[in-house]
Amino acid sequence: MKVKVLVIMIMIGSAIGAMGQNRFERDTIQTSGGNLVITLIGHSSLLFNYQDRNIFIDPVMQVADYSLFPKADAILVTHGHGDHLDPIAIEKIVKPETEIFLTRLCFDKLKKGKVCPNESFFIAAGVPVETIAAYNITGLRGNGIPYHPKGEGNGYVLTIGQLKVYVAGDTELTPEMAKLKNIDIAFLPIGLPYTMAPGMAVEAAQKLKLKIFYPYHFNNSNPEEVVRALMGTPIEVRVRSLK
Ligand code: ZN
Ligand code: ZN
Repeated sequence: MKVKVLVIMIMIGSAIGAMGQNRFERDTIQTSGGNLVITLIGHSSLLFNYQDRNIFIDPVMQVADYSLFPKADAILVTHGHGDHLDPIAIEKIVKPETEIFLTRLCFDKLKKGKVCPNESFFIAAGVPVETIAAYNITGLRGNGIPYHPKGEGNGYVLTIGQLKVYVAGDTELTPEMAKLKNIDIAFLPIGLPYTMAPGMAVEAAQKLKLKIFYPYHFNNSNPEEVVRALMGTPIEVRVRSLK
């Protein structure tokens, strides 16, 4: 009997070890080019798997051990703060062919990758990507400088099949965001003082006429405020483990 229990425990243990990355929540979204599988790793860290390619966004060790993940075909980094840029996490998932796209300040820290200014365009692992300025308007440090000054951070709009998926980075509802068209799915940050109050994120989701809204990067803010505010609207709010 004891032996049987031990064998079962070993089996469970090795299954957990083998699953590794499988402990993270995943959403599968059908697109005209096949399934997009989004792994919701945590805080601002995401993995998009599409057409057998892995595109990582803001990989950082503070939310996961990246040695458990497959290697990256592309890595997108929104800006240089420690909860978005982590050279150690990047080292765990790069292979010789990995393409890294980042901002000028990130390049200065990482010493590699392709610098993408705001309002530029590139192809990452076969996926067209536009960069959108990500910055604060009202969120200022004591010295009057924004937590995220304009020009230093990117949001990314990925065109996946017929869908446009917007990963906003650390930003407020800016004029650049407000004028985006045909976004289907967006990851919008909530949480003051660095990003948006839930009310501003709700306004952004409505302006963008989203189909699916993932609140992310929410720290101690309550994403349920967003859920309540958008109840009964066509926008589906998905609260996942992205605190
Ligand atoms: Zn930041
Ligand atoms: Zn952040």
